[in-house]
Amino acid sequence: MWVYLGAMTDASKHSLAHIAPLFVSHGAPTLPFDDVPARDFLHSLGAQMPRPKAILMISAHWETQVPTINAVVTNATIHDFYGFPAPLYQLAYPAPGSPDLAARVVELLGAQGLAARTDPARGLDHGAWVPLMLAYPDADIPVVQLSVQSQLGPGHHLGLGRALAPLADEGVLIIASGSFTHNLGALRDAHPNGEPDWVHDFAVWMNNALAEGRTCDLLAYRRLAPHAARNHPTEEHMLPLFVALGAGGTGAAARQIHSSVTYNILRMDAFAFSPTNTGA
Ligand code: ZN
Repeated sequence: MWVYLGAMTDASKHSLAHIAPLFVSHGAPTLPFDDVPARDFLHSLGAQMPRPKAILMISAHWETQVPTINAVVTNATIHDFYGFPAPLYQLAYPAPGSPDLAARVVELLGAQGLAARTDPARGLDHGAWVPLMLAYPDADIPVVQLSVQSQLGPGHHLGLGRALAPLADEGVLIIASGSFTHNLGALRDAHPNGEPDWVHDFAVWMNNALAEGRTCDLLAYRRLAPHAARNHPTEEHMLPLFVALGAGGTGAAARQIHSSVTYNILRMDAFAFSPTNTGA
C-alpha cells in the first residue's frame, strides 16, 4: 500500500503529473444502482484521470465550524441517509486513510492562516464514497476527507482551495463533491415538462461564469445567478465547488466534463479546474 509522505522534493515533483482538481455532483445515495448518465460518467472517471497517489475528498455532508480532516488508517463507510432500500446499507468503501496527507492538509491550511484540526475517527460519508465507489471501485487509493463550513460562505471555501492547490502537483487528486443544483423539497413536485426553467437558467449562468473564469461573479452567485436560492435553499452542496475552483489555482477556469439532470431538478454537472484550462 502506498503511503503519502508529505510534500514532494523539487526533484520528485517533476515526476508527478499535475492532476486537475474536480467538482462532481454526487446525486442521490442510490446513484450506484441508478441507470443514469451521471452514474456512467463517474464510473468512467477514474480511467480518464492520471492515477493519483491519494485522494482528498471535500463533501457537502460533513459540516463543521472549523476545517477538519479525517486522519484514520482505514476509512469507515458512513451510511448517512434514512429510508432507502436495504442493499444500499450493505455497500462499503474501505479505502485506506492517510494520516500523513491529513497532516499535510493541516500544514497547507495553516500556512495561509486557516486553522484546521484532524478527526481520528471519522469515516467517509456518502457524498464521498458514492462517487469514489464508481470512479475507483477497488478502494485501493488512500482517501482523506475535509469538511465544509457552511456558515462561512463561498469566499472561505475558495481560500481553502487556494491553500490546497500545491497538492495537485504532489500526486493528490482533489475531488469536491456536492450538487450543481440541490432543491430536495422540489423533488415532490410534478415536473411534466422535464427540467424546469428555474433549474436550467441557473445552470446556464453558472456554466458560463465557470467557463469564463468569472470568479468574482461566482463568489456573488447567490445575488447574481437566476434562481440561486431556489436551486440551493442552503449552500452546503454548492460550497465544495469553490474549493475545487480555488485548488485549480489563481485564474483557474473550468472545463465541463459532464452535464446531465436526474429527477428533473438535480443537475449532475461536473468540472475540472486548471490555470490553463487544459484540464487533467
Ligand atoms: Zn448530497
